[in-house]
Amino acid sequence: MSSALPSYGEATALVAEYASQLGQSRPSVERVELGRAPGRVLARALCADRDQPPFARSTRDGFACRAQEASAHIPLAIAGSTRAGEPPGGPLPHGSAWEIMTGAPVLPGADAVAMLEHVEIAREHVTLASKRNLAVGENIVAQGAQARKGDELLPAGTAISAPQVALLAACGHAAIEVFVRPRVAILTTGDEIVPVKSTPAPGQIRNSNGPMLAAMVVAAGGEPWILPTASDDARALDTALIQAAEADLLLITGGVSAGKFDLVEPALARAGARFHFTGVRIQPGKPLVFGEVPRCHPAPGKTARPTPRAPQTLPFFGLPGNPVSSAVTFLLFAAPVLAALAGSRECGPRFALARMAPAIEKHAKPDLTRFLPANCTFGASGELPEVALVPWQGSGDLAAMAYANCFLVLPDEPHPPRQGAIVRILLF
Ligand code: AMP
Ligand code: MG
Repeated sequence: MSSALPSYGEATALVAEYASQLGQSRPSVERVELGRAPGRVLARALCADRDQPPFARSTRDGFACRAQEASAHIPLAIAGSTRAGEPPGGPLPHGSAWEIMTGAPVLPGADAVAMLEHVEIAREHVTLASKRNLAVGENIVAQGAQARKGDELLPAGTAISAPQVALLAACGHAAIEVFVRPRVAILTTGDEIVPVKSTPAPGQIRNSNGPMLAAMVVAAGGEPWILPTASDDARALDTALIQAAEADLLLITGGVSAGKFDLVEPALARAGARFHFTGVRIQPGKPLVFGEVPRCHPAPGKTARPTPRAPQTLPFFGLPGNPVSSAVTFLLFAAPVLAALAGSRECGPRFALARMAPAIEKHAKPDLTRFLPANCTFGASGELPEVALVPWQGSGDLAAMAYANCFLVLPDEPHPPRQGAIVRILLF
């Protein structure tokens, strides 16, 4: 049966194609204060409001001068001083130098700044140290060297974190336009699942997938909407799917395997779902389901909430209930679709290369691409990070995943990597 399922690569290509189609329509736009911008996506390109830097700027404390005069090692009369925040002063008389601070504008006539540490000062004169030479432009960043007024600094679709916040601030944006975050419904299923605050009865477990996925949705630029857990019951699932119709993306956990009470796929089929795939040759996460369901009619008395995209169909992922499977399949497949819905230019999962620390003893599932909880040490400079598997008890092992900082990718090849081999890791 499993060979009929798409490989990891085939499923990835399918999701990427779907995400790129979604990415062609833009989400709606809202305005947020700069302090609330991290994690959001720029809706309009950011352009420089003035030259960057706005004036020729000294990068050192020292003396602005003519490089040629200073390099002759003759004493130059100190003609004035400019602090950061002051206008440049000047122009610089010939045969003189001008005291200047880091960040201050360089006065007309000066073409270099001699560092304070490289000069000798005596009797109101400054002389470049005999072993030093000064080149034209040294320790000065010319006006507009980084950007000219009106230049595009960041395109729309850029995800905002600290460096982008700094650039927005430098350009005078106290508030900015960002895309409205996609609303991601999280539907956990299972008769055994109880809310976090409950004391589980024998046989019950607390809902850890709901909060975990909510955290992953936030990190991927979405707005989580946690629905009440649905029991393993056709009616409960039908009702939950109607409720979820107002979302931009639906994540369902549990109930997608082949068990007697795995009723999610039939419920989706009853709702008219079109399945893009129902399983992928990966481990963990093989039962993953991806598709679209027509937006159901809203419950009586309610009007459908307009969604940022309001397409006719609601994309969904049915993630296997085991927590590690849910996390892996979210990162690999749901996060790219979510990023596209969020208007982000960066859509793919983040992979990196690392060096295998101890060899992997055996490769139990050579026909599957595997993603195993692992720990990566970002240590010595210039070396690839080293990665080692975290001992785990299978895809229900939450503690192993919480201890890990990445997943080791094992391609569907017969031989596991040896010690020192270069391997791929999936970052989270
Ligand atoms: P299922 O995919 O429904 O067969 O569930 C597989 C395993 O994941 C079972 O051991 C479930 O109890 C567990 N599981 C399902 N949903 C959750 C959840 N929301 N939180 C924690 N564990 C879950
Ligand atoms: Mg279940």
